[in-house]
Order: sequence, then structure tokens, then C-alpha cells
Amino acid sequence: MFNDALAARQQAHAAGQPYITDAQLSARLTAAKATPERAWLGQVSAVVLQQSLADLNAAYRNFFASATGKRTGPTVAPPRFKSRKDRRQAIRFTANARFKVLPDGKLRLPKIGDVPVRWSRPLPSEPSSVTVVMDAAGRYFASFVVQTGDDPLPEAGTEVGIDLGLTHFAVLSDGRKIANPRFLRRAERKLRTAQKALSRKVKGSRNRAKARVKVARVHARVADTRRDWLHQESTRIIRETQAVYVENLCVAGLGRTRLAKSVHDAGWSAFTAMLEYKARRHGRGFGRAGRWEPTSQVCSACGVKDGPKPLHVRVWRCPACGVVHDRDVNAARNILALGRRDRRNACGGDVRPGPALAVAGETGSRRGAA
Ligand SMILES: [Zn+2]
Repeated sequence: MFNDALAARQQAHAAGQPYITDAQLSARLTAAKATPERAWLGQVSAVVLQQSLADLNAAYRNFFASATGKRTGPTVAPPRFKSRKDRRQAIRFTANARFKVLPDGKLRLPKIGDVPVRWSRPLPSEPSSVTVVMDAAGRYFASFVVQTGDDPLPEAGTEVGIDLGLTHFAVLSDGRKIANPRFLRRAERKLRTAQKALSRKVKGSRNRAKARVKVARVHARVADTRRDWLHQESTRIIRETQAVYVENLCVAGLGRTRLAKSVHDAGWSAFTAMLEYKARRHGRGFGRAGRWEPTSQVCSACGVKDGPKPLHVRVWRCPACGVVHDRDVNAARNILALGRRDRRNACGGDVRPGPALAVAGETGSRRGAA
């Protein structure tokens, strides 16, 4: 479905014809159901097919917005064909599709039937849509979109900056260090063993297929364990602090360097995303400190910039004020200071010179801040 619609648009583009509108695609879908080779479309809930078109339209909108510079952040590539080799499959039902959570806990899906569900937690309110995903390990998940109210926590009084590092998973400005958990490293070793076993199997063999499922299972377990742990840590930090500031890492940019593996493994972007939504839900402050600030080079005590330091330098003494710094804690303290400064600025604070002196280029210079 997605692929048919994408092909239609690409052919029109190659032939110099105008862009096929969303409404035209939708009409073609109705026509396609009448043809013998696409008759099976009639056996699938219509809302699901419309959702698939909507996903393609959203992908195109993001691409156009990116190409014309309306969208900030990394450039977005034009939509690609979905591969049958991609072993993760998803299907989305909106309220129009009349899916239903039954009193006995089963999930009723149009044209599929009643499906037993193992609930991870009760739904806080009536869901507006549900996405059913089959992952590479062959497991099915249902995730619901629900409206939730804010759940403010009692005042905590402290604020922290967080430095995401390579020696530790995270270092807090109050000196606490969160290490990468050992059970996770053990699970990742197991994953590597399974991957090696897979690579030794003959292509196309039954044993290779078996080994692939095994890798997918181990992979899924590692991902689950990591996510659980990230949830634990992020919830604890949000409970204990009034505001959290993190480094505005451009993870996509770092990903192209040799740091890639450690960056993706460490799950930093998932972690900061959790911090952000949990902060919003619980009435806490959250900010990303500018990416270009040399947080590891500046003394957090006196503000003197001491120049770049190679990664193996873990402790250094500020030549100006003599304070001895732990590299990561110092960086976290700078992130805290930067985050606070950005927040004051955002509230019309007193840090920058008055509005008469502000240069036009200055306002956009700190992308992603505040
Ligand atoms: Zn100093």
C-alpha cells in the first residue's frame, strides 16, 4: 500500500507530472480495491489503509519542509520503499476504525478479531489510537495513545546539570556518577556471541534462519533491559530535582564519527527524551545547554577557559583559581550554569545587554537552546 502510493508519486515526478495530492491517492486506493490483484485490500480495515497513506503524506511533508529550510534539525531524506525484509511490521488503528478494549481485557481489532493482551499497566483513559507492532523477534506489542493529565510532584528544591560521558553513563553536577550497569554489559556480550554464530552459518540455510531469530530475541532482551534501566534512572532524577539540564548533544552528528557505537549503545538520546517528557509531566524544569559550549574546558568555579583536554585527562587543576576538578563533574556543573542562564534569558532576564543592543543574528545563534 505504502509502496504503491510512493511508486505512483515517483512515476509522476519522473514523468514531469504534478505532485499527486493526498485526495487523489485516496481515490486511487478505492479504485485499486476493484482490481483482482489488489482485491485483498478489501479484507483489511479501510482506516488502516488510510493511515498508511497518511504516514506517506507525513513523510513527504517532512521532506519538503526540510528541503525548503522550513524544518530545522538534520535534513530529511525523501520517503523510501518499505522492504519486505524489514522484519518489524506495524499497523495503526484510530478511533474511526472502531477498535475496542473489551471488559475481559481483550483487544477487539476490526477485521482481525478479539486478541488477548498482557497489559503492562492499566490505561489511564480512553485511548484515541492503537498501534500493533510485530518486532523482529516475532513478538506482538500494542501501544495506545492516551490523553494524560499532569501529575505534579512536590517541590524538590535542587537543580542538576548532567554530563553524558563515555567512562560513566552520566555524571551529575552534585558529584553523583551513574555507571553503565554490569548486567547490561553482560547481555551485550551475549548478543555479540549470538551475532558471531549467525555470521558463521551458511546463507539461506535453516540453521541460519534459526540463528537469526536467536539474535533477534537476544537483541530484544537487551533493548528491553536497557529501556527499563533508563526509565528507573530518569524517574529517580526527576523525583529528586526541581530542574534538569542536559548537554544538547547532536547525536546524529556524532553518529558519523568513530564514537558512533558507544553513543548509540549508551542510549543517551532515549534517556534525555525520557527526562524531558517526565519533567513536563511532573512539573519540573528541563533544558538543553548549547552544543557548542566547551563544557569540559571551562573552570566551573571561576569561568576561565583552560583550553582543550585529551579524553584521558580525568582530573585537572584550574591555573587561574587553583580548584581541582573532576573532568565530568566540572562539565556537569557548567551545563547546570548554562541551562540556568538560558532559562533566565528565555524569561526576559538580565544576562544579555538590553534589547537595543541585541544584534539580529544573535537570537538565532544558539540553536536548540531553552
Ligand atoms: Zn578556576
